[in-house]
Amino acid sequence: MRLLVGTGNPGKVREFGELLAGLSVDLTAPQDIGLDIDVEETGATLEENAALKARAYADAGRMTALADDSGLFVDALDGAPGVRSARYGAPRARTDEDRVLLLLRALADTPQERRTAAFRCVIAIAEPGSGNVQMAKGELRGIIGTVPRGTNGFGYDPIFIVPEHGKTMAEFDSTTKNALSHRGQAARAAREIITQRLAHEHSEGPSKYD
Ligand code: IMP
Repeated sequence: MRLLVGTGNPGKVREFGELLAGLSVDLTAPQDIGLDIDVEETGATLEENAALKARAYADAGRMTALADDSGLFVDALDGAPGVRSARYGAPRARTDEDRVLLLLRALADTPQERRTAAFRCVIAIAEPGSGNVQMAKGELRGIIGTVPRGTNGFGYDPIFIVPEHGKTMAEFDSTTKNALSHRGQAARAAREIITQRLAHEHSEGPSKYD
């Protein structure tokens, strides 16, 4: 089965290659088939944005496509930065460090017990033409610290503490982070969906898009 990874980011294509390793899918990057589209993330939820991207890539590439969306949801900020995590504080905040400092400032008066938050990830898998989309989801709950700690990872990792481990996400190696993270959980659920599709295809013969 060919599976188009719906992103313009080559790093994400590589990451999905690792997360879906061992499955008999032929992962295809948009540039492999001369596809260059930019899908605007206009949805109000991670689900909407992931589905929007997966559908657009599936239709443009005429094959099954997968796309993800993720973000940090802080309870004391009514779920902000949420779907806007990558653009939080834009245009003034431009780097991950800017966004981390902005979030720490927004929580400056929030006591430890109210600094709860969740990282969430949604992976959507869409069929071309049909509008049919399946979703795989993951969530990791934690506490927003008061100072950044650790140098691994990206984004809000240095201020997201996993209480069971007493460490921030930026203090884990990538194997441990993948085992715990919202993205790792969603990827494992997506593997299940793809495995079921492969079994179904096997029993029905190749799809018209292969
Ligand atoms: P997207 O899913 O590529 O649109 O990314 C959403 C944004 O959410 C990222 O740019 C980060 O700011 C934040 N984010 C999502 N996942 C993580 C994570 O695992 N660690 C830190 N920040 C994350």
